[in-house]
Amino acid sequence: MKIINRIDKMKTYARIMKKENKLIGLVPTMGYLHEGHLSIIRAARNQSDIVIVSIFVNPVQFGPGEDFEKYPRDINRDEELAKDCGVDIIFYPKKEDMYPEGFSTYVNVEKMTENLCGKSRPHHFRGVTTVVMKLFEIIKPDITYFGQKDAQQAYVIKKMIEDLNMDITMKIMPIIREEDGLAMSSRNIYLSESERKDASLVYESLKLAEGLIASGQANPKKIIKKMRDLLSEKPALNIDYISIVDTKTLKEVTTIEGEVLIAIAVFIGKTRLIDNIILLPSALLCEQKT
Ligand code: AMP
Repeated sequence: MKIINRIDKMKTYARIMKKENKLIGLVPTMGYLHEGHLSIIRAARNQSDIVIVSIFVNPVQFGPGEDFEKYPRDINRDEELAKDCGVDIIFYPKKEDMYPEGFSTYVNVEKMTENLCGKSRPHHFRGVTTVVMKLFEIIKPDITYFGQKDAQQAYVIKKMIEDLNMDITMKIMPIIREEDGLAMSSRNIYLSESERKDASLVYESLKLAEGLIASGQANPKKIIKKMRDLLSEKPALNIDYISIVDTKTLKEVTTIEGEVLIAIAVFIGKTRLIDNIILLPSALLCEQKT
């Protein structure tokens, strides 16, 4: 496994691999790897000739007062984990090289970046699409892998790939969870012992919604109310948003008729956690089973 820091070196290597007709799989990450990342990397390993994992804590997707400085980093540990998963290259660029002085070009996907996380993190997705576009240009992957854990991010990148006619296949991989259901996240390390216990309620609230929808409840307001009631049992938990949206448009639905994404963001102390679930209404579920 090689570690490449320089953009020009990464470009040269990727272009040589292309000339050799190697299928390049790219897994973009911010590092501090956990089983969620590793499951994606393993999928890439199975499906591509060359697996490149980028590790870059991208400053432009963090807002003022967010956790850019203290975001967990441990490149030595990441190296070990990546190596064990058969990664070929870690691309680990420097902030100054990705964003030299005078940098002023951004990629922005409109509309679907305005709700959900876009409301409380206004420039977040512009930062994400910009860095992902840069990674795509540097590496020119054939396949790129993202997690459903950051569902809105995945949809936004999918839209960017479609809108800009990019020749990249995108794969969205399932959410990997801890035993109690908490979605794995590099940010879970911030949680105190009691916050960590409370955090399991986030997934419980999504399962509650799943049960309600399965039993025929199609009114998003009623579902969200029940989820809020459950979460309010823990005073340390502050809801940023709970939203039930159409999976194609990410627009809120007034009644659940097709596939929906239930997305949630909460603060537990100072830590912001997100999670989601994709569900079909009971009528469609029955149709699928028959
Ligand atoms: P991050 O390092 O948090 O930016 O995540 C890098 C990629 O891993 C993103 O595509 C995430 O959606 C994905 N990811 C993060 N956590 C999980 C998880 N628990 N399960 C599956 N994918 C994840």
